[in-house]
Amino acid sequence: MDFETKLDRLAEVAVKVGLGLRAGQEVVMTAPLEALPLARLITRHAYRAGASLVTTFYGDDQATLARFEEGAPESFDTAPNWLFEGMAKAYGNGAARLAIAGEDPALLAGQDPEKVSRANRARSKAYQPALQHIVDFHINWSIVSFASPAWAKMVFPDATEQDAVMKLWDAIFAASRIDQVDPVAAWAAHNARLHDRKIFLNQRRYQALRFTGPGTNLTVGLADGHEWAGGSEVARNGITCNPNIPTEEVFTTPHAERVDGHVRSTKPLSYQGTLIEDISVRFEAGRIVEAHARTGEEVLKRVLETDAGAARLGEVALVPHSSPISKSGILFYNTLYDENAACHIALGQAYNKCIRNFEQMTEDQLLAAGANRSLIHIDWMIGSGEIDIDGVPESGQAEPLMRAGEWVI
Ligand code: ZN
Ligand code: ZN
Repeated sequence: MDFETKLDRLAEVAVKVGLGLRAGQEVVMTAPLEALPLARLITRHAYRAGASLVTTFYGDDQATLARFEEGAPESFDTAPNWLFEGMAKAYGNGAARLAIAGEDPALLAGQDPEKVSRANRARSKAYQPALQHIVDFHINWSIVSFASPAWAKMVFPDATEQDAVMKLWDAIFAASRIDQVDPVAAWAAHNARLHDRKIFLNQRRYQALRFTGPGTNLTVGLADGHEWAGGSEVARNGITCNPNIPTEEVFTTPHAERVDGHVRSTKPLSYQGTLIEDISVRFEAGRIVEAHARTGEEVLKRVLETDAGAARLGEVALVPHSSPISKSGILFYNTLYDENAACHIALGQAYNKCIRNFEQMTEDQLLAAGANRSLIHIDWMIGSGEIDIDGVPESGQAEPLMRAGEWVI
């Protein structure tokens, strides 16, 4: 299969599996400039599937860099509110949302962390109205990736740029099941496996998960009435979509006040251009009370101070150590990929959809159930082949879920 065919298949998977696009729907797409070839193919497949209108917003890493290098110091609290209000309006009117990821993970590594954090904060705040439609699953949405040269060179620093890009594409195509005979059918089978795990965990109704391993002894209490999710999901508009291409996780909402113990990251976290490595934190009653990192500690600490919920958890996810992305042995410096290589937790905003009957609950009831609130949602990896995980039911007698990083259920 030649490259053009694979790229076309990725576009088809993005539209049919990722979005599950319904004829007559609008699509709002965001993409880095480098992803133009994929964005055009997706646009073509979307119209073929009956899209009424595809509108794409391109981002440019170099323009972002220019802002940090030349922008007036007082200007970093500015965000395009008008753009996100427009997006929120489009989603409110039923548009599907597709994001192509592929930005340079280290773009802002050399920039002033204070400016970066102010700009991120302003952007997150402005993005809230649009993001709410996504996190509450009002609409079908998905993210796929594009192997941009800057990202590829970070993943494969010793290869030439051209080789690095091809290697990254091979990894993206494999993880997205593009190289299988019938990618759409392969996704259906994969979704069925993830659904089986989700159903098992939902039947067990654990009160907490316990993670143990080197540097880690962590109890993650689960939200009252939590629901596990994973694989394809039915959005509230009735459309079945796969929010992440690829995906290997089952995940749920922890209780914002019931996380205790210490935990160490098992992979570097690439956050808005800064690499945060060897994180170790201690939780008390749900809140991080002590945080260290070998690199990027200052950025991590700023992240934790974003708001009251930034030092609490909004997600816990289980991924076997033998997942194809983990087996590739590649560190992608990209959450969409790295989070699917290992069990992870996320700082910040919880997914309401991971709480049963959330549609009928008030905000106060959701908070009482344990849902965390924050402007941020940042996944970082805590799983490896050395981690054991137990489920703790109401009876208190722990049951093994994973041993040495693999499912035992
Ligand atoms: Zn996750
Ligand atoms: Zn997450």
